[in-house]
Amino acid sequence: MRIARFSIDGNVAFGAVEGEGTPESGDLVLDIIKGIPYADHELSGVKVPLNKVRLLPPVLPSKVVAIGRNYAEHAAELGNAIFDEHGRPDVPVAFFKPSTSVIGSGDSIAYPSFSSDLHHEAELAVVIGRMCREVPPSRAKDVIFGYTCANDVTARDVQQREKQWARAKGFDTACPLGPWVETDLDPTDLAIQCTVNGEQRQLGRTNDMVRAIPELIAHISEAMTLLPGDVILTGTPAGVGPLNVGDEVAVTIEGIGTLTNKVIKRG
Ligand code: MG
Repeated sequence: MRIARFSIDGNVAFGAVEGEGTPESGDLVLDIIKGIPYADHELSGVKVPLNKVRLLPPVLPSKVVAIGRNYAEHAAELGNAIFDEHGRPDVPVAFFKPSTSVIGSGDSIAYPSFSSDLHHEAELAVVIGRMCREVPPSRAKDVIFGYTCANDVTARDVQQREKQWARAKGFDTACPLGPWVETDLDPTDLAIQCTVNGEQRQLGRTNDMVRAIPELIAHISEAMTLLPGDVILTGTPAGVGPLNVGDEVAVTIEGIGTLTNKVIKRG
């Protein structure tokens, strides 16, 4: 099921997306969900055309935990090693993007005033469905609610200048998520693509991840409790590059859909 969060006439609701097409095409309808999608819920049968609503971020995470250097080619393009001196994968890099950085599809990325080298990073996002901690890899699928597209927008110059990445990757609008959450999906081998103004910049497959999703969930939940709606970003394939004011950046993941955002000057 594809579950979107949206607002219409000042009301916010979740809805199941029905039909095929893009958010703009006019071919999709939302069947409004009674209750919250993580718990027991049912469809109301009340339907609204998707192009008549404003899509919101599909989840409201208490935290977004992101993993760096999870595709070997991308790590190499930034000059980072992901294997230790014995050829074993090193400890994954984990960092936070705050809830205030989250925006939805169609919202604008505001170019931060303290950067002059903003980059896109197309990523598969995992949405957690239940409170959990110390989840062994074999149980990871039990705590996953679904998957959505993410852009780990990064002020690359700030990331390289500052030891912690809080400002470089945590500024307002740095975490586009959407357009919806797909709950029925095998995430192990999906095409993941990023375009800027229609031109392809990144193209990878999720089976190139150094560490698979169950391992990432085990690693993160060893340290902290995950809550329903929390999001894990699983790393970006090679091809990251600059974004400029006026650009339209789109992240498309096979089986999910397309997350589209414009870059604007911060007001
Ligand atoms: Mg990233």
